Amino acid sequence: MQNLFAIFGNPVSHSKSPLMHNRCFAHFKEKSCYTRILLKNGEDLKARFFALGLSGANITVPHKEAAFAACDVIDEDAKAIGAINTIIEKNGKLHGYNTDAPGFMLSIEEFSREKVLLLGAGGTAKAIAYIMNKRGLDVTVMNRSAGRLEGFNHCETMTWENFENRGFDLVVNTTSAGLADGNLPVPEAMIGGVLENAKACVDVIYGKQTPFLQAAQKRGLEVKDGADMLLYQGVLAFEHFTGHRYGTREITPVMRKAFEL
Ligand code: NDP
Repeated sequence: MQNLFAIFGNPVSHSKSPLMHNRCFAHFKEKSCYTRILLKNGEDLKARFFALGLSGANITVPHKEAAFAACDVIDEDAKAIGAINTIIEKNGKLHGYNTDAPGFMLSIEEFSREKVLLLGAGGTAKAIAYIMNKRGLDVTVMNRSAGRLEGFNHCETMTWENFENRGFDLVVNTTSAGLADGNLPVPEAMIGGVLENAKACVDVIYGKQTPFLQAAQKRGLEVKDGADMLLYQGVLAFEHFTGHRYGTREITPVMRKAFEL
């Protein structure tokens, strides 16, 4: 019998996940197939999952918190982050994981990251700050407004008004500035100061060279967009989907090919 997997989101038609996972299922000769489901109401997630007879799923914007509410058993990291992007069905129960955060860490392995500056304080920043703190990194979070900084208990926090350069070697843009506009994540007058001392810059936005990455490249810094974060969250989800029969090293080159299609 075939196992069916899916990604739930709204919108979801742009998602690369079906390509990524189907390519791996075919390569590893797994009798499984992966599709995409447009889910308008997050509260319907559990009912749709069981009605479709799914073995597992990925969850994308805006339903990661709804997925958290739908799961019966939640992994320790996902619990701390408060968002779930990967679900597995086991004996009628939904088990939830967050592979975005460890996926991001795999995507930055080549960069020095003794002092990290995260720009933005939304859901993605929260997940990345949590995993970086857990792995002992020194993380500072800067956001344009103060309200969302309150949850970042184990990080230094700053707003644009009180920014202080602490000699960051890695700067990560987790804001949506540059996604659908030409904005920098900080005012133009600040960007030089923010990037001073930095060796590398990463943007979680993928598929385009954002103004942030352009500014970093102009200063001769190493840059990377969010495509590897997307890749590695998928690699780690695939490990869950296949009961850990394959490891990161085997899955990564196969899944990476989906980005060339
Ligand atoms: P949220 O809506 O939770 O947070 C957005 C953050 O961006 C807030 O801190 C907000 O600041 C800030 N922000 C928005 N616009 C601007 C601006 N013009 N200038 C400065 N700051 C701004 O978003 P998410 O955390 O869910 O997603 C953030 C980005 O991450 C998106 O672009 C998304 O596509 C990307 N992403 C990529 C993934 C990947 O696999 N590569 C996975 C998940 C997300 P304020 O609090 O002041 O409003």
